Amino acid sequence: MARDTSPQCKQCRREGEKLFLKGERCLTDKCSFERRAYPPGDHGRGRQKQSEYRVQLREKQKARRYYGVLETQFRLYYDRASRQDGITGENLLQMLERRLDNVIVRLGFAGSRRQARQMVRHGHWTVNGRRVDIPSFQVHEGDIIALKGDSPAEPVVRGATELTAQVPAWLQADHESLTAKILRAPERREITTPVQEQLIVELYSK
Ligand code: SF4
Repeated sequence: MARDTSPQCKQCRREGEKLFLKGERCLTDKCSFERRAYPPGDHGRGRQKQSEYRVQLREKQKARRYYGVLETQFRLYYDRASRQDGITGENLLQMLERRLDNVIVRLGFAGSRRQARQMVRHGHWTVNGRRVDIPSFQVHEGDIIALKGDSPAEPVVRGATELTAQVPAWLQADHESLTAKILRAPERREITTPVQEQLIVELYSK
């Protein structure tokens, strides 16, 4: 399965803000963005021309990198979002937010999406009692998520819960039993992703 293996800190520097892709390290002074808050490459410190297209493109890339989704898959999310009722940008963000790997991060069971994705792929998580090893799996209201009883990932998951201050209101997490419930779909104001989705819609609508 194709995945993005490019250096994560460079992604933050390219997008000009911290995307918190590396879990605990992002909260320390080892964060590359704290030390070099300019784009990577020879011309990183030069003046960047900000055309309308460039701004829209960067916003799309930022969303893609934040959720760890490749271009083709991101475009498929957009196409599905545009066919749904409601506001396309919000539909898009909701779908990205309901990915199982993202939900595991939001619940505080993983420090980063890459870590969550790896645990899912290795079969450590169940949804409604069934093993799910697809990181893009879409969760729905009422779904019960749980770490498999004999999972060797338990220390890692418990370590991640200790760093988690708050779980969004659309989710319910039990950090003792390492289980969770999806209470409802997320509302736009509850999605903290630093993205202006309207710019992505404008880019793909051209
Ligand atoms: Fe981004 Fe985290 Fe790397 Fe900092 S440490 S640049 S927030 S991925």
